[in-house]
Amino acid sequence: MLSLTDSVAVLAGVGPKRLTALDQLGIRTISDLLYYFPFRYEDLKVKDLSEAADQEKVTLKGTVVADPVISRWGPGKTRLNVRLLIEHDVVMVTFFNQPYLKDKFEAGVDVAIYGKWDAKRHTLTGMKVLAVQSAENPSFAAIYSVNKSVRQGTLVKMIQEAFDLYQDVIPELIPEDIRTRYKLMNERDLIAGMHFPKTYSEAKQARRSAIFHEFFLYQIQLQAIKQADRHVANGLALQYQNEALKDFIQTLPFDLTDAQKRVVNEICLDLKSPAHMNRLLQGDVGSGKTIVAAIALFAAVTAGYQAALMVPTEILAEQHYQSLQRLLAPMNVTVGLLTGSTTAKERRTLLADIESGRINIIIGTHALIQDAVVYHKLGFAVIDEQHRFGVNQRRILREKGLQPDILAMTATPIPRTLAITAYGEMDVSTIDELPKGRIPIETSWVRSNQVEQALSFVRKQLANDSQVFAITPLIAESEQMDLKNAEEIYATMVEQFEPDYHVALLHGQLKDDEKNQIMNAFSENKIQLLVSTTVVEVGVDVPNATVMLIFDADRFGLAQLHQLRGRVGRGKKKAYCILVADPKNQQGVDRMTIMTETTDGFVVAQKDLELRGPGEVFGDRQSGLPVFKVGDPVADFASLQVAQQEVQKIFTLDPELAAPDHTPLKTYLQQQKQNYLTLD
Ligand code: ADP
Ligand code: MG
Repeated sequence: MLSLTDSVAVLAGVGPKRLTALDQLGIRTISDLLYYFPFRYEDLKVKDLSEAADQEKVTLKGTVVADPVISRWGPGKTRLNVRLLIEHDVVMVTFFNQPYLKDKFEAGVDVAIYGKWDAKRHTLTGMKVLAVQSAENPSFAAIYSVNKSVRQGTLVKMIQEAFDLYQDVIPELIPEDIRTRYKLMNERDLIAGMHFPKTYSEAKQARRSAIFHEFFLYQIQLQAIKQADRHVANGLALQYQNEALKDFIQTLPFDLTDAQKRVVNEICLDLKSPAHMNRLLQGDVGSGKTIVAAIALFAAVTAGYQAALMVPTEILAEQHYQSLQRLLAPMNVTVGLLTGSTTAKERRTLLADIESGRINIIIGTHALIQDAVVYHKLGFAVIDEQHRFGVNQRRILREKGLQPDILAMTATPIPRTLAITAYGEMDVSTIDELPKGRIPIETSWVRSNQVEQALSFVRKQLANDSQVFAITPLIAESEQMDLKNAEEIYATMVEQFEPDYHVALLHGQLKDDEKNQIMNAFSENKIQLLVSTTVVEVGVDVPNATVMLIFDADRFGLAQLHQLRGRVGRGKKKAYCILVADPKNQQGVDRMTIMTETTDGFVVAQKDLELRGPGEVFGDRQSGLPVFKVGDPVADFASLQVAQQEVQKIFTLDPELAAPDHTPLKTYLQQQKQNYLTLD
């Protein structure tokens, strides 16, 4: 029988290679594919030349006048020129770096080309060759985020095939009465409307339903955890040793701030209480959350339990491991590190030590929740940058231990109502004070034509024995492009600063141990200037770095800019953040201005929420909010809230999800768990 949980391998032309490529996009099952929605649409309707505005993206149709000409304009760079007769006009169309398109343009053939119109030069920069309009080629196209192994066209064909085959077995997850009340499409129409709309308004309608669908399923998972809690009579009461804790705090090289002391007390009360701890710790970048987490982890160990710290990236795991190791080894606490790049041999010993309880505190990425990891007595877990983990991952971590107490940390403060809607009921602790003696970071904004001045400033700082981060722009649609940008900037920096200083490039496509090596070399000042994509964004602590130079800064969200800026100003020297940006709209200007005006993360976060237009900036990963595919928890807050309330109602009336209307949800929850566990 057909089921949406079938692997995409059932589709025509999907072999092992394509399976891997699809897997990279997060597509494994038919369901993944059908719910892999486009992120925008293009209107491909053919325009009359007279209607095309300068710099507008348009589709033009005409007849190829003569065979195309290909020329080179740099190493590996080509330009394909083809002249097109449109009515009585001849228009030059240019395609960059796509020489293989040549065969499509024989003289005399009719073609439709989508591209950017330059009215002054009377030319079109071609972006896409389209089939000439017909019934099978609608004029409205969905655009998907793809990688180099899966092309748009391939993806569209697969979605079409999957839809044709499976449209009659798409389960209806949202109960009918809810759909009726909120005028939502059924799943089949929603999927068709997202992928194959004929007009913008049809796409918009489908999107509204898709957003609710996404939020609803998220809330079902979130609240299912709470539901499971009701079967656990009591949480743990961790009787930690107060004296040992005091001794440990004594050994720290600094005094805790008042705010740190307050939140440590709040956390300790929770640990001791038999009620289940579910607490969110917020605090600005550099406010010292790590040490608070370390104290809490240590407390759990003195109570005779194991404790875990789960973080989103290997770089961060490695760094936390080193600092916790340093702090806690003198207290006779054994700390272990488990990540994706732990070797098989180390892993075997480590797993045995975790199971026997020889290791007290275990730090790692989501490797911590793999099947193979069996904890001895996990009583407490800290999740750093918790919004980077899915609700399912958080759930599995809890089920791994003895229903451990949970402390979630996030660098970006979010208002309480938003936190509760996005994460469920939790207590909040806030560190609202920075350690004494920090010199505020000076932030400036320059245009890209002033980059020379910025670089001469960088040179001065390097001469002063300081280190520098240069962050390269982010292009959401393709990792390849991100890398290309990063390589270009890296080349410029090498030219400017080598051999006087060492320059290195860090990006997401490096292997994890390569990334670690580079980060370590930077920490040890063997590298002075680190060119990086945003892989450095989270938590990295290199106190000798004093300059954060961010290219195309207007492409980043405020929360992320603030996080990046927080990578400097952690030592004794004064630090600087330089934003290089030519914003294209008022929002971009506002973001740059806010960054230069305040260094207070709470203010930045508030502004971020106010200014945030849906889908406006890339890289929202630091906003402190869970990442959704279609919905935006801020812009679509009302929908998120309704989803929360409706799910609450369902669990109140039917806690076991036994009603016929709710059984698809029950099945869905079971599948979610299985899907996850077969991974890794
Ligand atoms: P974040 O809250 O961004 O995770 P960290 O925990 O990384 O901040 O702390 C930032 C830096 O401040 C670290 O180098 C840490 O050792 C230092 N630090 C933490 N607490 C204090 C304190 N009370 N006094 C002085 N320095 C502190
Ligand atoms: Mg941190």
